[in-house]
Amino acid sequence: MAAAIQIRSTSAQWQTAEALPGLRWQFMVNQGETDSHGISTGFLQIDPGHELPLHHHEEQEIYLITTGQATLLEWDGQSRSLQQGDVVYIPGNAWHGIRNTGQGTLAFTWVFPTDTWQQVEYLFENTALTLD
Ligand code: MN
Repeated sequence: MAAAIQIRSTSAQWQTAEALPGLRWQFMVNQGETDSHGISTGFLQIDPGHELPLHHHEEQEIYLITTGQATLLEWDGQSRSLQQGDVVYIPGNAWHGIRNTGQGTLAFTWVFPTDTWQQVEYLFENTALTLD
């Protein structure tokens, strides 16, 4: 017997962190909120001119750009532009960040091969930056 399919909808409740101004997110598939394991996903929005700074983590990750214009930040200072419809595959331990370079909100979905987002240990270039 297969487990039940679950549907979650975007809510008006966004999470924020003082360390990351201009960013808000919500967990969509995350063990504990969904009856799920081995995969997790959520929505992140970034205001114009703001960024999720350069960081890495052991887990590979996918970004699916749903709205807006962005620059993918990389360790070597390289920056590639991203727009609606682009999908970014980020190998484990690869340095990456994302900056909203458009006039409106940047919205994208992240996917991790983990039970929960909380399991992912973020290591920022700016070591003073922590998410908790
Ligand atoms: Mn990441």
